[in-house]
Amino acid sequence: MAGMKGLRLVIFGPPGSGKGTQSKLISELYGIPHISTGDIFRDEIARGSRLGRLAEEYISKGLLVPDEVVVEMVRERLLREDCKPGFILDGFPRTLRQAEELDRILEELGWRLDAVINLVVDEEEVVRRITLRRVCSVCGAIYHLEFNPPKRPGVCDRCGGKLYQREDDTEEVVRKRLEVYRTQTEPILRYYREKGLVRDVDGNPSIEEVFEQVKAVLEEVRSGGDG
Ligand code: ADP
Ligand code: ADP
Ligand code: ZN
Repeated sequence: MAGMKGLRLVIFGPPGSGKGTQSKLISELYGIPHISTGDIFRDEIARGSRLGRLAEEYISKGLLVPDEVVVEMVRERLLREDCKPGFILDGFPRTLRQAEELDRILEELGWRLDAVINLVVDEEEVVRRITLRRVCSVCGAIYHLEFNPPKRPGVCDRCGGKLYQREDDTEEVVRKRLEVYRTQTEPILRYYREKGLVRDVDGNPSIEEVFEQVKAVLEEVRSGGDG
């Protein structure tokens, strides 16, 4: 087929908008790695590494980890073999500086982003989602006590692992994270809009309905459309 492209994606949206949930579905369907900077940091924290200890200082307060640290981490990840067919970046970039550095890394690799999927979700909905979020401590599967509950309370459907609540998913830290999103992260949408990369998706409906919209957008991107 003419113009079939790889899929090099960024998924964008406020904390709790469903980036992780949709990324996992996209990753499975298209066979591209899901790169979540938040997940990488949580792994490092769990392992007690130096990077983890550094990141935790910021994450626990709802603040961003310094750009240099995140950029270098993402750079190393993108150099790995499995990113050749494409990737989906979740939670990165989060500042204009990170977006610019990402462009530099991609240029170095001879790649370009194909799309930025922007999940648009109301603020009250985002708070409802985050405060009842639960995550599998083993495989990272994402649940919601009301909207996407596990079959057995506290137990992961996929691997039997124990579910936990993220320490930064408390009301107070969530408020800070939303403020940081509005002031430091949301402005980079303009940078991507100017490049014609942004695909807005209504993230308010159910997980399945949002994924239907995402798939439609990605099929268009893959066949070279600029919709
Ligand atoms: P959410 O999915 O709720 O938006 P993440 O799991 O993406 O949260 O991120 C959790 C925390 O990890 C952030 O609040 C921030 O402290 C840190 N973090 C993740 N990605 C980045 C990044 N690109 N730049 C700076 N800090 C980051
Ligand atoms: P993010 O990565 O953007 O922080 P998540 O994918 O972790 O967001 O989703 C946040 C919470 O909302 C999780 O508990 C998840 O199960 C739930 N969730 C995700 N998408 C939807 C949706 N479309 N409708 C209802 N709940 C959702
Ligand atoms: Zn699991």
